[in-house]
Amino acid sequence: MLIKSAKYIISSPDYKKCPKPDIPEFAFFGRSNVGKSSLINMLCNQKNLARISGSPGKTQLINHFEVTASPHASILQGEGPVLRWYLVDLPGYGFAKVSQRQRKNWEKMISDYIRKRENLLSLFLLIDSRHPPQKNDIDFINQLGDWKVPFCLVFTKTDKETQKTVSKNVNDFLSTMQETWYELPPHIITSALKKHGREKMLKFIESQIVEQAKR
Ligand code: GDP
Repeated sequence: MLIKSAKYIISSPDYKKCPKPDIPEFAFFGRSNVGKSSLINMLCNQKNLARISGSPGKTQLINHFEVTASPHASILQGEGPVLRWYLVDLPGYGFAKVSQRQRKNWEKMISDYIRKRENLLSLFLLIDSRHPPQKNDIDFINQLGDWKVPFCLVFTKTDKETQKTVSKNVNDFLSTMQETWYELPPHIITSALKKHGREKMLKFIESQIVEQAKR
């Protein structure tokens, strides 16, 4: 898939106010500072796209971007059909200063969106590859399992540590999951800085769109 354009559409306080669910959607989620904005910008080949989500007033909202792209086959054959999908930037967890009430609102907004957004094909759950498995990431994953929400793990910032450390952290993470999961979800190793993992993510998105079109 070749990204042709990506533009900000709207920020919504809950899933009911999101754009009409008429094209496939992929959401990005993870603890704050995991590298979500950098990854979105890298994926869309834009410097400041996801900065919009971080601007005052938008950090606690569901941020929609519309992406247009050419499918892989048409890149090989010249002009072809255009794929349209929504990229959603969800506010991350782990904020230092939020009240109990803000936290509850945020939890409800996220869980409602994830469970009820009908065009959501997959959630990208971002995990910082520099750290060993974190309890709240695993807890959230188990929650996704209970909700039967399809997701893909994306390990971020892999240029920041040695390959050995990254491999150990990724393997430890997957092993921890294996304690409770029968089948592991797909995972992609990325670095926004080095643009690693971009093709794999785009391929994954395209395959999900194609699969859904067949259903
Ligand atoms: P967000 O809070 O999840 O949106 O995280 P950001 O994208 O703002 O990234 C947090 C910090 O990590 C920033 O200082 C980024 O420059 C840095 N960062 C993000 N991704 C990478 C990466 O792939 N490699 C390196 N070296 N730094 C990164």
